[in-house]
Amino acid sequence: MSKRNKPKGQTLNSEDDLEFDTRAVRAGQVRTREQEHNDPIFATSSFVFDSAAQAAARFSEQEIGNVYSRFTNPTVRTFEQRLASLEGGTHCVATASGMSAILTTCLALLKSGDHVVAAHDLFGATVSLFANILSKFGIKFTFVSVTDMEAWQDSICPQTKMLFIESPTNPLGEVADLTALAELAHENNALFVVDNCLCTPVLQRPFELNADVVIHSATKYIDGHGRCVGGAVVVRDQELHKELFAFLRTAGPSMSPFNAWVFLKGLESLRVRMRACSDSALELARWLEAHPAVGRVYYPGLKSHPQHALASKQQSAYGGIVAFEINGGRPQAWQVIDSTKFLSITANLGDAKTTITHPASTTHGRLTQEQRDAAGIRDSLIRVAVGLEEVDDIKADLARGLDAMAVPRAARAARG
Ligand SMILES: *Cc1c(COP(=O)(O)O)cnc(C)c1O
Repeated sequence: MSKRNKPKGQTLNSEDDLEFDTRAVRAGQVRTREQEHNDPIFATSSFVFDSAAQAAARFSEQEIGNVYSRFTNPTVRTFEQRLASLEGGTHCVATASGMSAILTTCLALLKSGDHVVAAHDLFGATVSLFANILSKFGIKFTFVSVTDMEAWQDSICPQTKMLFIESPTNPLGEVADLTALAELAHENNALFVVDNCLCTPVLQRPFELNADVVIHSATKYIDGHGRCVGGAVVVRDQELHKELFAFLRTAGPSMSPFNAWVFLKGLESLRVRMRACSDSALELARWLEAHPAVGRVYYPGLKSHPQHALASKQQSAYGGIVAFEINGGRPQAWQVIDSTKFLSITANLGDAKTTITHPASTTHGRLTQEQRDAAGIRDSLIRVAVGLEEVDDIKADLARGLDAMAVPRAARAARG
């Protein structure tokens, strides 16, 4: 084959020798004979065979290869391999949403009678899935605070098969000790599962801290532009992958090739975006902490954060979620939100566009007042998911409402 016609870079066999940023752009790509530069979208539900014999071999799994896109699809596979490479895992199954990644993990790896210890401040739909749906099928759950190691220890029983966390938590940014929880899980023959959606492998790689399963909602930072819904489960154990894949191919919560292609583009710029939103979020958190209208600021990157040291040990930066309490209640919080001109009033996160929400009346609105109090979600709390706009503009948009609150106070103080 002449040098000119050689399909250069058809596959990356030495991915592990390449740096994170290179793998984010290159890992998993398989060029077709068309020599396309970009990753192609294989928009096909099924695949054809050279012969009846080959069809039989594929169906019986004697020959490895594509059959049907509920099981495997080349675009989806490229996404799976690229994400697995970035997380430091060996296998990945891509799913239709973050929630279906969590469902797949639980239904593939648990059975009736099993017990799970989970953080109580998980993503709201995850708590509902556990407490209202999976519990109907005989899986039992105990919910504890991510920072209360004693509660984790005390909740373990002989049926415990899984410990499940997110870290940092959303919106209050509590940080779990991943190494300690992994050790506790393994001492008790349980799996340690980390939903790494808020950090992505750019900021935190749970496998390096001994997690067994890493879950993603690709909808958030992996997409990064609020376009598609998707998810993934990454493991570094072939047996776990076998169970996950068997569930996926049979139950069918599969990712569409188009969405996989969008997420591949997202992975290419993930590091640049995570760094940028983390830098802006830290600057915003420091600015809020100094603002007279603001009470407590929740951001693991602040020195005042109770788990700042732990966050600094297990994360390379602190992410885009900043929550803060204003000096006031719900009307004042709503006033600050309504005074913004370009921040998007929506509960989504992980978008290039910065979003602002009032958790007590939206994401946590269906909890009772007692449940909200227990979760620390006060009426005065505002959450900002920092995007990629100029941080000075974000500050100015928030300052409009905050300064209006602060000025009368300062004036009152001046009058004595
Ligand atoms: C959004 C989110 C999910 C659910 O993902 P979807 O893609 O919306 O199904 C799960 N975990 C966390 C931490 C999330 O933020």
